[in-house]
Amino acid sequence: MAAPQVSPTVWCIVVAAGSGSRFGGPKQYEPLGGRRVLDWAVADARDVARRPGVDGVVLVVPPDRLGADEPDVDVVVAGGRTRSASVRAGLAAVPHEAEVVVVHDAARPFAGPVLFEAVVEAVVAGADAAIPGVAVADTVKRVSGSQVVETVDRADLVVVQTPQAFAADALRGAHAPAPEATDDAALIEAMGGRVTVVEGRPGNFKITTPDDLDRARATWDGTRTE
Ligand code: C5P
Repeated sequence: MAAPQVSPTVWCIVVAAGSGSRFGGPKQYEPLGGRRVLDWAVADARDVARRPGVDGVVLVVPPDRLGADEPDVDVVVAGGRTRSASVRAGLAAVPHEAEVVVVHDAARPFAGPVLFEAVVEAVVAGADAAIPGVAVADTVKRVSGSQVVETVDRADLVVVQTPQAFAADALRGAHAPAPEATDDAALIEAMGGRVTVVEGRPGNFKITTPDDLDRARATWDGTRTE
């Protein structure tokens, strides 16, 4: 696959179309730091200062929220029933000239623009995809029901986050057969593409449960204000 130019056109898809079944509602619309959770995810994409910056943002929302005003983004589209379907809906709205596409979960309000820069730079350097990873601190065991099957060596394991950056052609190709995965990098891996891991941020957690939102509000450091 052709490597993007040194200053490629970069677009970001922020997926915010989940129903939040584990949360009990769409967590990305909950208030945090005076805005909605999803606004911080969009703001991080917008705040990327170093070149190549982000040229445009597509926000993917639940179909029933499609009419709402979203002034900080360039395009708003309706998502699908799964995260992968929502990414595809966003990808269809990304202009053809985009050479790098970043996919970010709206439920991660603590990524920060530096992480966007790191993954985009790794793709510009030649990777098909670049993803943030964090070393596993806890001991990991494989289980069957309540029975432990084995202890897994954590030395070569990372927990993966978003934003994830992709050579646009690679991402479009990977999504063409409408596959399902819990992240987009898995689709590139399945195609034999080069996926690079950059250092993620332990604080860049995904809000999944009400406890996560409590933690987000408790750890909000006040440096992020409107
Ligand atoms: O469900 P999960 O927490 O893994 O979702 C990760 C992100 O994907 C969230 O920001 C969520 O809103 C989004 N998503 C989506 N469309 C879906 C399911 C999840 O945009 N159908």
